[in-house]
Amino acid sequence: MRRTLAAVLFVSAVFTSAAVAQGPFGQPSGFAVENTVLRRIWAIGMDSSQLLRLGQVLMDSLGPRLTASPGMEAAQNWLVATYTSWGIPARKEQYGTWRGWQRGKTHIDLVAPRARTLEATMLAWSPGTPRGRPVRAPVVPLPDVADSAAFVAWLPQAKGKLVLVSFPQPTCRPDDSGEKWGTQTTVDSLKARRTAAQQAWQQRVQRTGYTGPALTRRLEAAGAAGAISSGWSQGWGVQKIFGTQTERTPVVDVACEDYGLLWRLAQNNQGPVVELTAESQALGERPVYNVIAEIKGSELPNEYVMLSAHFDSWDGGSGATDNGTGSITMLEAVRILKLVYPAPRRTILVELWSGEEQGLNGSRAFVKDHPEIVTGLQALFNQDNGTGRIETMSASGFPDASASLARYLARVPADITRNIRFSFPGGPSGGGTDHASFVSCGAPGFGLGSGDWDYGRYTWHTNRDTYDKISFDDVKNNATLAAMLVYLASEDTVRISREKRNVFATTSSGQPGAWPECRDAQRVTPPLAPPPPPRP
Ligand SMILES: [Zn+2]
Repeated sequence: MRRTLAAVLFVSAVFTSAAVAQGPFGQPSGFAVENTVLRRIWAIGMDSSQLLRLGQVLMDSLGPRLTASPGMEAAQNWLVATYTSWGIPARKEQYGTWRGWQRGKTHIDLVAPRARTLEATMLAWSPGTPRGRPVRAPVVPLPDVADSAAFVAWLPQAKGKLVLVSFPQPTCRPDDSGEKWGTQTTVDSLKARRTAAQQAWQQRVQRTGYTGPALTRRLEAAGAAGAISSGWSQGWGVQKIFGTQTERTPVVDVACEDYGLLWRLAQNNQGPVVELTAESQALGERPVYNVIAEIKGSELPNEYVMLSAHFDSWDGGSGATDNGTGSITMLEAVRILKLVYPAPRRTILVELWSGEEQGLNGSRAFVKDHPEIVTGLQALFNQDNGTGRIETMSASGFPDASASLARYLARVPADITRNIRFSFPGGPSGGGTDHASFVSCGAPGFGLGSGDWDYGRYTWHTNRDTYDKISFDDVKNNATLAAMLVYLASEDTVRISREKRNVFATTSSGQPGAWPECRDAQRVTPPLAPPPPPRP
C-alpha cells in the first residue's frame, strides 16, 4: 500500500512540475492559443515581477496618500519619475483644488486615575494641539440629555474638556470569537445587549440635536479641548480612520479597548484625565492632480484602452489594499506592456486618480475634461477592492460588450481565469469606484473585482491597511491579467459596444431603476457647514 502511494505521489509531482515548467500555454487545461505577446506578458508578469519593490516603496517609504497632502504629492512625483524611468511619457494633470493637510504625531496618555499610553490616531484634516504644548484635560462622555435645549445648557461644561462622541462597544471581541467559544445563549444575550445599547446611544446623540460632523463642530464652538471618537471595525484591534471637519479642535480616534476604558472611568466618576499631543498642519486650498501615463497607439492613436485605479487613500494605515494594490497592479501592467507591446494598436493610458475617497473627483473631472478620450474609449479596466485574485467581472450594463470581454477571457490562461465569475449584462454602477465615472457617462468601464481577504473588516479604510496585508502572488496574477486584457482590447478589430441595457431592477427605496447620472466632480473643497442652531 505505502509503495503504491509513493509511486502515485511521485508520478503526480512529475506531472505537475512538468506542467509548471511548461507554463500555462502548454498546460493540459487546454489553453491552446499561440500568441507570443500573451506568452511574454505571462513570463514577465510571473517571473520578473517588480511588485514587491513598487509596493514597498509606495506603502512603506512614501506611505498613505491623502488627497492634497504632501504625502500624495511626493507619491505622485515618484509615479511620474517611475514611468519616465521606464520610457513611458507621464504627466500630472490638475483638475481642481482641495484642502491641504499634513499629518504629524499623535500621542495620548491616560494620566489619571492611572498611567497608560492609549492607542490613538488623529482623524484626517484634524486641527492639532498647540505646538509643543500637549493638552491635559478631563475626559467626559457626551451627556444623556432630555433634548437639545438641555444639551445647549450643558455645553458650557464641555469647555476645556475632551468629549467622548462615539458608541462605547460593550466588547471589542469580534462576533466570530464569541460564536466560536460561547454558548448560543451567551452570544445571543451579548448581541441583544449591544443592539439595545446602540439604539440607546443613537437616541442619546439625536436628543442633542446634532449628529456626525455637526456635533463635533458644536462642541468646538463651545470650547471643548477636543473630541475623542472610536470607529471600531468589528475585528481584533482594528479601527476605521476617516476625517473631521473641525477648524480648531483636534479629533482623535482611540482604539476600541482604550475608548471603552475611558468611557467606563468617566461613567463611574473615576476622573479620567488624558494628555494629548496631536500635531498637524492645515495647508489651505492646494492644487490636486491625476497622474496620466501614455503609450501612443500606432494604428488607432485616437482610440484608447485604459488602466485605472485611484491613487489617493485614507491615512490611518498606508493605503495598502485601498488602493495601493490597485495602483501597483496598473503600474506593473503598463511596465510589462511597454516591454512586450511598445507600439500598441490603440493608445494605452494609465490613470491613477486623486480625490476618489472624496467622491470620485479625479475620474469624474477627467471624463468632463476629455470628451474626445471618452468618445474614443475602447475599454477601461479598474481595480479597487483589495489584494485578492480577480474573481469577478461584469459587463457593467453593456449587454453586447459581454461578447468582447468573454472573447478576451477565453484567450487568457486558465490559471488566471478559472476563478473568475463573469456576470452579464451586469448593472451600471453609479458610484463607489472610478469606472463608474465612465459608465455613468455611457463609456465602457469595467471593474475587476478581487477576492475578499477580510477587506471590509480588516483593511478597508483602517489603521491596519499596511504593506504586510498585501498578497503579492494574487497581485501578480492581477497585473498579468490586466496587461493581457489591455493588449487584447487594443488589438481587437471590433469596437466594444456601448449599447446600454434598458431594463433595471427597482431600487431598494422602491424607485424604478435607471442608468446612473453622469455627474461632474467636486473641484474645490466644499465650505465647512457652520454648526446649525439647536433644534427647538
Ligand atoms: Zn478605494
